Amino acid sequence: MAILVVGSVAFDSIETPHGSVTKCLGGAATYFALSASNFTPVRVIAVVGEDFTPQHEWVLTSRGVDTQGIERAPGLSFHWTGSYSGTLNEAKTLGTDLNVFAEFAPKIPVQYADSEYLFLANIDPVLQGRVREQMPGVRMVCGDTMNYWIADHRERLLPVLRELDVLLINDGEARMLAGETNLVRAASKVLSMGPKTLVVKHGEYGATAFFGDRSFAGTGSMTLPFRAPALPLADVVDPTGAGDSFAGGFYGYLASQPALTPAVFRSAMFYGGVMGSFAVEKFGTARLETLTRQEIEERFQLFREISHLESAGA
Ligand code: AMP
Repeated sequence: MAILVVGSVAFDSIETPHGSVTKCLGGAATYFALSASNFTPVRVIAVVGEDFTPQHEWVLTSRGVDTQGIERAPGLSFHWTGSYSGTLNEAKTLGTDLNVFAEFAPKIPVQYADSEYLFLANIDPVLQGRVREQMPGVRMVCGDTMNYWIADHRERLLPVLRELDVLLINDGEARMLAGETNLVRAASKVLSMGPKTLVVKHGEYGATAFFGDRSFAGTGSMTLPFRAPALPLADVVDPTGAGDSFAGGFYGYLASQPALTPAVFRSAMFYGGVMGSFAVEKFGTARLETLTRQEIEERFQLFREISHLESAGA
């Protein structure tokens, strides 16, 4: 089952305690696509500028990602500058140059019209909404956003939230969106804004799914929150893209399954953590570019082991 993703395809300049890179390939849709394509076909809607070369495109196409929906425009690609310090759990944005994204009017190529799953990766919510409108018949819609849109463009974001089966954001963003410091209360407020399910990513501490009253087909019996672990890693080189890679593992696995059941949903949360844990091992997209399905399955088993509780028999 193919996933259609709209989101940033970008160049990132990043500084972490392990070093820095200037204008390496990044973007929310890029990380999402590289991650999800390990599980299911992925098609990308985005715009890039003249600085996006055939070598950059090859990073995606060599992993099976369909890039026919990536438009070219005169000018420069989206450029994000960020830095990490301390626990590496949160990026500090130093610059967001929308460049060609500022004038982007997304158009869905006819050959993408039969995509059954839609992912609204991080980008201007107005663009997310325009893509959603053009895909009325999809089976499921998941989306992401970030503090930049929550804090400064909230009125654009709220209509998109009402369209979502699943919203995936990190805990700081959930608290900011809800205006509430307690995570459980924040989750309940966010669910009242529209998404049927909320997946909150906790960086190196895993992720929690919260289910609303209107839970979508297949997860109807899930009422208690579900917490999936993260793998404690000794070397987090660059956390950029961890959230999008989580989303790619989560949604890619869901879309690859014949039916959505609570067990499938729980495994999807684990695959999300697995993909996020790989993404942070090298700068930019480097680790995802060489990843094999066998490595993914081995780490998935590790995730199962670290979270297994046997009864103490008392
Ligand atoms: P994350 O998975 O949350 O670490 O997302 C990192 C990616 O988000 C980077 O590759 C950036 O290019 C991209 N990004 C940063 N800011 C924005 C923004 N305002 N809109 C869309 N994408 C962004």
